[in-house]
Amino acid sequence: MNFFSNRTASLLTKHGKEMVIASEMLALTGCQVQHTDAYDTDQLGTFTRETPRYGTQLDAARKKVIIGMDLLGTNLGLANEGAFVADPYTGVIPWNNELVILLDHQHQFEIIGFSGAPAQSNSSYLSHWEEVIQFSQSALFPSHQLVIKPTDEYHPQSRKGIKNLIELKDAFEWAQAHSTKGAVFIENDLRAFANPTRMENIRKATLDLIQKMNSVCPGCQTPGYWIKDIQRGLPCNACGLPTEQEIAKIWGCLKCDHQHTEGMKVLKLADPSRCSHCNP
Ligand SMILES: [Zn+2]
Ligand SMILES: [Zn+2]
Repeated sequence: MNFFSNRTASLLTKHGKEMVIASEMLALTGCQVQHTDAYDTDQLGTFTRETPRYGTQLDAARKKVIIGMDLLGTNLGLANEGAFVADPYTGVIPWNNELVILLDHQHQFEIIGFSGAPAQSNSSYLSHWEEVIQFSQSALFPSHQLVIKPTDEYHPQSRKGIKNLIELKDAFEWAQAHSTKGAVFIENDLRAFANPTRMENIRKATLDLIQKMNSVCPGCQTPGYWIKDIQRGLPCNACGLPTEQEIAKIWGCLKCDHQHTEGMKVLKLADPSRCSHCNP
């Protein structure tokens, strides 16, 4: 019997996230998901810049989970919060970090699932219909929906959720008529239901959360037994000094002191190219 089977978790979203979260949860943990959209989560932040996000990504997720649990009266809750940034490797590719949080009030712990992946998040300033057509193709329209604003990205008015050519033409003409410079700002709609690339990343973050939920502490059986630290300092193959390369993973429990170290199966040394002494 799984820890979560026959329990019900609330999920507050008005952007269709239950489509990827609920089915995976039920199939892989036995946990039922009860969806609500009775609170407007746009009050905690919009990607279209009208409302700044409530605190950090994790702050906003925690706020959503508590509101959802209050609305439905559950002692278990789920929530998602996404962020769009530059990729962590080169800093030039649009990147999407998704976080799915599980809060268990009954047993007093939280578990966080995470996934980072390339984002479908294009934007541009355009003045001609032909440019709009070209942009829409690079933005994977119409499978991915669009947003248009007059003048610039901070204009208070917008057309969102543009999902076909007729709406696109209409929105472009509206924005151009209201633009002070003749140009309009156009971008991918980043709300989950409007952006299948993002929805898939929310699914991956959910699967990461589920893996952690299904990993129980050998000492006290609490879910969420996971890697909590990485031990670094693998010696360099040339000079023998410690590098930033990983030696071992330290697994630990959310509730008790139980932990174990998962070392390398085969002893090896760090490549000198990764050594700050040999290759600064
Ligand atoms: Zn434990
Ligand atoms: Zn070295």
